[in-house]
Amino acid sequence: MKKTSSKINRVRSFAFRLVIAGILLMYIGLLLKDYPFLMVLFMLLGLLSVMGSTLVYLRIGLLSVQAEQVICPSCGKRTKMLGRVDLCMFCGEALTLDPELEGKEFDESYNKRRPKKAGKNASERELEKSET
Ligand SMILES: [Zn+2]
Repeated sequence: MKKTSSKINRVRSFAFRLVIAGILLMYIGLLLKDYPFLMVLFMLLGLLSVMGSTLVYLRIGLLSVQAEQVICPSCGKRTKMLGRVDLCMFCGEALTLDPELEGKEFDESYNKRRPKKAGKNASERELEKSET
């Protein structure tokens, strides 16, 4: 299966679908007002779905503030990436922050494999921030 959009975009469209599903569920609940139990059930499901998507939106908002900004080599636009590998938000070009992975085929599993020297990553990032 080929993935054509970046993580941030994918999470956003997931949250969007969740809102739509929530609204639909609540609407179905309204139609079922003759069956109080079902109505409450659908309303609650809809509410949960909308609240869940709010949480997803909040989370992706925070993540996208922290995400690395890079200039896409393919389309020249400024894009954001999460993790070690991601796709350009505009043209879907595979991007990496890790020189070791350069030129390799795009593989999402690189994000799950933790580099051996984990732990100093956060402090390194802080250093880089204060330098710029
Ligand atoms: Zn691009």
